[in-house]
Amino acid sequence: MSLTIGFIGLGNMGGPMAANLVKAGHTVNVFDLNQSVVNQLVEQGAVATTEAKHCATGVDILISMLPASKHVKSLYLGDAGLIHALSTSTLVIDCSTIDAASARDVGAELAAKGIAFVDAPVSGGVAGATAGTLTFIVGGAQIDFDKAQPVLADMGKNIFHAGDVGAGQVAKICNNMLLSILMAGTSEALQMGINNGLDAKVLSEIMTASSGRNWTLELYNPCPGVMATAPASNDYKPGFMVDLMAKDLGLAMEAAEQSNSSTPMGSMAKNLYTMLQEQGAGSDDFSAVFKLFSKE
Ligand code: NAD
Repeated sequence: MSLTIGFIGLGNMGGPMAANLVKAGHTVNVFDLNQSVVNQLVEQGAVATTEAKHCATGVDILISMLPASKHVKSLYLGDAGLIHALSTSTLVIDCSTIDAASARDVGAELAAKGIAFVDAPVSGGVAGATAGTLTFIVGGAQIDFDKAQPVLADMGKNIFHAGDVGAGQVAKICNNMLLSILMAGTSEALQMGINNGLDAKVLSEIMTASSGRNWTLELYNPCPGVMATAPASNDYKPGFMVDLMAKDLGLAMEAAEQSNSSTPMGSMAKNLYTMLQEQGAGSDDFSAVFKLFSKE
């Protein structure tokens, strides 16, 4: 079904996501503070708007894809927020990665005005956004998930319903915290093998076929030269940036504190990624954590 959709935040992720909605046949009104990305989307068939509130009115669905919690809260809440412009017939889908508490705050304030909201952070990076193969992890009421699902399917492949509002954010940071731990653990094991005279390729094959097997070993090996297609073999470019992993680990640590959860491995991973940032590797792929162990 062809819908009228508003899309705010047309950066690395939002730009290709909005383009896929245009390709799927929807009318897509777009807004970003950066006019050049708005122009790029217009060339691809979207409709430019000059203010967030114009983008958000008269639409079936409003999607936002912004950098962080403060951007999302200021877009929707406060005196100048979209909360005053949105209609109760519009479903709001925020795809930004933000802390769960902020997602719940925005959801609750919109709900008080009768406006439906789901959080739907993504996994899959810029490549997934461009190819339309993102994973969406959605938090919200069943009825709102059912309405969001077909639109999300125009931008992604796997769409999960994690629970109530905020649950999408929680599931996403649980996954990314585990991923960072696996990447750091795989890196230290590979380097210990190398230091003891093993070939990293052979050791990777052995561990992939053994109980140490994990996603980073199988598909995203952090040791340069082991896997031609992995960012490690291309000077750790492109990929999922260290800065973004550090941001997600910060969110994970906040969630751990708020829920009184013990996360020693996650906090170690957070420290390692902060060290990498301090060493100037913030824009490298997150598998660059290998460099902290490497002797080269
Ligand atoms: P980005 O910085 O490339 O894009 C953000 C866009 O939002 C920019 O174009 C900016 O001008 C715009 N913007 C900011 N405030 C605005 C406002 N008030 N109104 C309108 N536009 C505004 O960021 P990105 O890489 O696209 O990431 C977006 C979100 O997706 C982040 O929360 C990030 O953590 C998450 N994410 C990113 C990736 C990735 O690989 N880049 C992967 C998964 C999730």
